[in-house]
Amino acid sequence: MPCSRSLELFQRANRVIPGGVNSPVRAFKAVGRHPLFIDRAEGSTLIDADGNRYIDYVGSWGPMIAGHSHPKIVEAIRKAAGRGTSYGAPTALEIDLAEQVCAAFPNMEQVRMVSSGTEAAMSAIRLARGFTARNKILKFEGCYHGHADSLLVEAGSGVATFGIPASPGVPADFARHTLTAPFNDLDRVKALVEEHKADLAAIILEPIAGNMGCVPPQPGFLSGLRDLCDRHGMLLIVDEVMTGFRVAYGGAQQLYGVKGDLVCLGKIIGGGMPVGAFGGRRDIMRQLAPEGGVYQAGTLSGNPLAMSAGLAALALLREEGVYEQLEERSACLAEGLRQAATAAGVPACLQRVGSMFCCYFQAGPVRSFADARASDTRVFATFFGNMLDNGVNLAPSQFEAGFVSLAHTPEDIDRTIEAAHRSLQGA
Ligand code: PMP
Repeated sequence: MPCSRSLELFQRANRVIPGGVNSPVRAFKAVGRHPLFIDRAEGSTLIDADGNRYIDYVGSWGPMIAGHSHPKIVEAIRKAAGRGTSYGAPTALEIDLAEQVCAAFPNMEQVRMVSSGTEAAMSAIRLARGFTARNKILKFEGCYHGHADSLLVEAGSGVATFGIPASPGVPADFARHTLTAPFNDLDRVKALVEEHKADLAAIILEPIAGNMGCVPPQPGFLSGLRDLCDRHGMLLIVDEVMTGFRVAYGGAQQLYGVKGDLVCLGKIIGGGMPVGAFGGRRDIMRQLAPEGGVYQAGTLSGNPLAMSAGLAALALLREEGVYEQLEERSACLAEGLRQAATAAGVPACLQRVGSMFCCYFQAGPVRSFADARASDTRVFATFFGNMLDNGVNLAPSQFEAGFVSLAHTPEDIDRTIEAAHRSLQGA
């Protein structure tokens, strides 16, 4: 596909923006291409600066579960913008969204809105440390919780894609308060807890790890973590920034029947506008300023445009049959991709929970970051490039999840599977 305009924009961007992108995961560096610059998007389709059209499975990295420029969400934003774009003062919209979020996650008695998933996880950690008066946290290899200092240790997403185990700029004195264990390895967690329990404030995890592809929790893993936290006075922080309202209306916690003490949200609850949220038990949330001493704040927190877009998105997700449709289309896509790989004789392992999926180029199964790393990233890069040339936009890394939206039609799914057959020939 002709991409001269994108290339031109990329060259211009590189002069004034580091790497030409405002978030490293957008660079196509790991797949040996230059990124596409996007002109607009509608439904399941992304249209680049050269006018090429792609069936999009990135969905802005998760938020666009209703599809791009959904008329109801656009209208909600338009209406809100007409009343002023930010006041720095409370609004009824914030209460509406907080009530809906708390209703969806019964363990969330109170919630505070922020402007990104990074802020949500960073603030939840600070709160957990303040509440327990302990310093250490435990996270899992390949899980990403945003780019706050304590969380950039053995992280997933771009950190995994570009092979950066520890980011320069994070003092070792901070990083030593972050313990890491392999995802799904309860024995290792138990050993770490035994050693550090006196100073361990919280365990934080993605309940389904989506920043190293798509790794579901093994049976007993989440409940095992819950038990350990209860036994040793640590908080369980469930980061549902990606999975919240994605794998079920009540997120992975609804799906697997486990409850965090604190929950992080983002992406979908902002309907494509910048948003994050963290919430949980009232006795913990009360420790936040202005009621308590744990400080956290934000000029644009609870922004009326973001709240309005989020309310419109959640209303769409409460409609009858929505999650059934996502499940059906996603199952079809996963099966088609699996068959395409088999037909081409390419070892592949398709992992999926609801409308989150990843096609690992290896026999699998993938249960941890070490497993994920064993994928053939060269085959992935070829597959990615061929899919793009066949009009399908996937995340430009083996270590990211793909997302199906409500706007993906059965024809989109069929065309994607046909593209996969073509893309895997000779890969
Ligand atoms: N937590 C999880 C689970 C995420 O997937 C992400 C972003 N992909 C974040 C936190 C950080 O969110 P943001 O990019 O909005 O800061």
